[in-house]
Amino acid sequence: MIENIYSISPEFLLDNNINCVLTDLDNTLVPWNSKAGSDELRNWLASVKKYGIKVIVVSNNSHKRIQEAVRDYELPFVPRAMKPLSIGIRHAIKTFHLSKKNTVMIGDQLMTDVVSANSCGVRSILVKPLVRTDAWNTTINRGFEKIVWNMLIKKYPDLHWK
Ligand SMILES: [Mg+2]
Repeated sequence: MIENIYSISPEFLLDNNINCVLTDLDNTLVPWNSKAGSDELRNWLASVKKYGIKVIVVSNNSHKRIQEAVRDYELPFVPRAMKPLSIGIRHAIKTFHLSKKNTVMIGDQLMTDVVSANSCGVRSILVKPLVRTDAWNTTINRGFEKIVWNMLIKKYPDLHWK
C-alpha cells in the first residue's frame, strides 16, 4: 500500500527484484476522466526507464482509451485485460517474456488489480486513486471493496499507507 505510483522509486523496485511494472491505467497512471498525463507521470516514467525497468499498462479499458492516454509516452499496453481475472497479466507475461517473480502489478483497486495479480502469483502494490471520483462501473466495485477493506482492517489493524 503506497500513496501513489509516482512515489515508487526505481531503487525500491530494484531492491525488491522487480524489473517490470504492470500498471493499471485509470486512476493509477492518469485520472480516469483525463486524456493526457502530467509532468509527474513523465518524470516518473523517465526515472524508472533510466534504471531499465519496463512499464506495461494492463487495463480493462478499450484499446482506443488507452492509446489516447499513453500516446505521448510510448508505453506498451494490454487492453480489455478482464481483471479480476488474470488473463491480461498472463498475456503480458507471455507476450513480453517476463518473469512473474520479477514483476509487480500496480493499481488503485483491490477487487480488480490486486485480485488479478494474486490469482496468478504476481506481487502487487495498491495505490490510492488519483482522483476521488470513479467511472460508473468502478463505483460498483468500490462497494465490494469497502466490505473487504473493513474485513482487512479488522484482521490486520496495523495496515497503513506508506
Ligand atoms: Mg483503476
